[in-house]
Amino acid sequence: MLLFAFLANNSATADHYKRNTEIDIQHYTFKLTLNDSTDTILGETEIEIKFLSGGINKFYLDLAGLDSSSGKGMVVSQIKQDVKTLMFRQSNDQLEINLASTSVKDEIKSFTIKYSGIPAEGLIISKNKYGDRTFFGDNWPNRAHYWLPTIDHPYDKATCDFIVTAPAKYKVIANGSLKEESNLGNNLCLTHWKESVPIPTKVMVIGAAKFSVKYLQDSNCIPVESWVYPEDKEKGFYDFSLAKDIMTLFSNLIGDFPYEKLANVESKTIYGGMENASAIFYAEQEITGTRKSIVTIAHEIAHQWFGDAVTEADWDHIWLSEGFATYFQNIFIAYYFGNDSLLNAVRLERKQIIYYIMTNPNSAVVDTSITTLTDLLNINSYQKGGWVLRMLQHVLGDNIFWKGIRLYYKNYMNSNTLTKDFEATMEKVSGKNLEWFFNEWIYKPGLPYLSGEWEYDSKSKLLIVRIKQVQGVDNIIKMPLDLGLYFNKDKKAEIRKIKINASINEYKFSVKHRPSKVIIDPDLWLLMSSDFKEK
Ligand SMILES: [Zn+2]
Repeated sequence: MLLFAFLANNSATADHYKRNTEIDIQHYTFKLTLNDSTDTILGETEIEIKFLSGGINKFYLDLAGLDSSSGKGMVVSQIKQDVKTLMFRQSNDQLEINLASTSVKDEIKSFTIKYSGIPAEGLIISKNKYGDRTFFGDNWPNRAHYWLPTIDHPYDKATCDFIVTAPAKYKVIANGSLKEESNLGNNLCLTHWKESVPIPTKVMVIGAAKFSVKYLQDSNCIPVESWVYPEDKEKGFYDFSLAKDIMTLFSNLIGDFPYEKLANVESKTIYGGMENASAIFYAEQEITGTRKSIVTIAHEIAHQWFGDAVTEADWDHIWLSEGFATYFQNIFIAYYFGNDSLLNAVRLERKQIIYYIMTNPNSAVVDTSITTLTDLLNINSYQKGGWVLRMLQHVLGDNIFWKGIRLYYKNYMNSNTLTKDFEATMEKVSGKNLEWFFNEWIYKPGLPYLSGEWEYDSKSKLLIVRIKQVQGVDNIIKMPLDLGLYFNKDKKAEIRKIKINASINEYKFSVKHRPSKVIIDPDLWLLMSSDFKEK
């Protein structure tokens, strides 16, 4: 996801989500009826649940109940297990369901929940910029339960069907592949989309609006669709048409695209872009006909692999989504705009990280002290997470790094991970212990500050370089560092590789004559503040 600006007003709590360890959702079938006369939605959700323990006589789902002051919220009218009607209780955002008989371990049971109400959140029912009524799901981070009974946390992924009945003038988009579009008469249309691989609730979605749709495909024959308001047809089709090239680029680097299709959709999401699985939503402002949002599009498409297919099991590890998407948006920048643009992007990110760390000196990439989920959308998760991957690429070398990325995707696609799973994969492909690297960059706050100088001894023809780590003895890093030696203004730097691993480091090189200039890290492979000059 990419933001316009950081949000400040969500009251969601930390990842102290109480895991429902006794059940595992297998599949949701969300039947929804939308209408034009009220914002009330009618819902009927069939849920297949695997019971992980025997002897249970009730379980809980997340569903926002009626808030009497706003009149918004979902009111459940009936719950059935097969033909048996069940007792249930709604309190606040929880739905407690009593089973007809106690559970048997590993048995899968099917439940049907009928409900209705006006969603306070999660499904945005409003008007678009042309004054037309629209319906857009927007679940991140945990806003699915405002309109869908779910386990509203990324750890429990499930397959899902959306079967939506809506006024016939709307076209309906959702996750997965299109199974049915039927005119029901009475000006109503039924649309059925089926997602056949498990996804987290944060990226389950529907959109219903007047749309123009263009159908393309990438070089692997995955359907790539552009869904835009009819008024924005020309602009939007142009803006979204590069999506197929981005898909091909990432598929070749990472592995097969995880879903049945990819739709890029103009919408009312509150985010700049939102990486819903196989149906990415973009804010209306992003559709300009100038491709100004091409980097956002690349970011959201990268999330299909990382965030959607490989999903953090715990919100504290969100860099596995956002850091990866930021890294891959830079890969696209290099591919599309060239390497100088990539270096400009990472240079800007480094500045942002340095500034962020000045104001948040104790905050690490995995920061378990964050208690509001939207606070996870910070520079550490995005820019620093992306930089960590860039540094890991340099530490391991391109071949091993990409082998590791592909293996990580292959092993965990449609599943969940924590940072330790990524670390273990990279250790496996490299044969190296990387605990030091993840400690330095993911679990410890801050970044190194290198202060140094160089001098040339004309007698011995030696270049002497001294570098001090001044960020504090407890945080001495061990990293490779490139020195760029310039002997001629017009020529590229000669690179000399060194390792810094102590608080004071000194190196001597034999050189043919006095360099005109020496700089550290000319190609931006190390995240640091620095002050380096000639003695
Ligand atoms: Zn993102």
